[in-house]
Amino acid sequence: MTERTFSFEFFPPKTAEGMDKLRATREQLAQLKPKFFSVTFGAGGSTRDRTLETVRDIQASGSAAAPHLSCIGSTEESIREILTEYKSQGIRHLVALRGDLPSGSMDAGEFNYANELVAFIRRETGDWFEIEVAAYPEVHPQARSYTADLVNFKRKVDVGANSAITQYFFNADAYFRFVDDVRAQGVSIPIVPGIMPIGNYVQLARFSDACGAEIPRWLRKKLETYGDDMASLRAFGLDVITDMCDRLLVGGAPGLHFYTMNQAGPTTTIWQRLGL
Ligand code: FAD
Repeated sequence: MTERTFSFEFFPPKTAEGMDKLRATREQLAQLKPKFFSVTFGAGGSTRDRTLETVRDIQASGSAAAPHLSCIGSTEESIREILTEYKSQGIRHLVALRGDLPSGSMDAGEFNYANELVAFIRRETGDWFEIEVAAYPEVHPQARSYTADLVNFKRKVDVGANSAITQYFFNADAYFRFVDDVRAQGVSIPIVPGIMPIGNYVQLARFSDACGAEIPRWLRKKLETYGDDMASLRAFGLDVITDMCDRLLVGGAPGLHFYTMNQAGPTTTIWQRLGL
């Protein structure tokens, strides 16, 4: 069996204080020896400098960093500049995405879909970068159909993606079915489940509706019962997510990618409970 890979995702802090807090989080999570820390990239390049700064900080601490790069609203020239900068910083790993246009923005730029970005990165930089792409076991919200989304996913692999990270989900069967279906299309790259610890129910429900991640009815109903009792909600959430991670790994998932929300606590607890 190939070695499983674990990774942790951060968003770039807006303030110096946030950056200090993130350093502390990173130091704690670095003890778990992830393959890399990834750092998100705001739509249309809005976090370009902060993503770069965060990534530099991670690399300087001796851990591997993988910046996300989204292409919607960008020109080839601006993406080329970013790739050149990352190369000069010794970054070898990227998460390549389409991104979403900020509401009210009319200019889609020179890229329409993530497969065009992956092809562009390969054209410009050859094999310098290991490229991750996004996968949607519960179907991307704008996809025409389940099958169309699979075909579009395969397109990203065909032009050079090395592995994929999924949108988060709370239903392990959706992941296993998706993996079976992409394997049936001849896709063999690792598909690492994206894991979202459960913290704030209202926020989670809003975000899940927007990104097409289903909170199963039983889970929604149960989470609603906790109301403002955050401690009980979190404790229950940790049980649910730990069980799901266990099922995923036992079922053959090639690792886990944690959406940490810049917090070390929930990820560390799940990690310890899984005995990783
Ligand atoms: P694509 O793969 O381009 O797919 C987008 C939609 O278009 C899908 O419905 C697909 O079926 C369809 N499609 C794809 N190709 C074609 C085609 N050629 N013709 C017709 N239809 C097509 N967003 C950010 O802004 N910054 C981040 O840092 C970020 N990080 C993320 C990390 C992960 C692991 C994930 C899962 C998502 C992340 N996102 C991020 C969100 C992501 O940008 C959105 O989900 C976005 O809507 C789709 O991006 P994508 O790369 O999956 O797009």
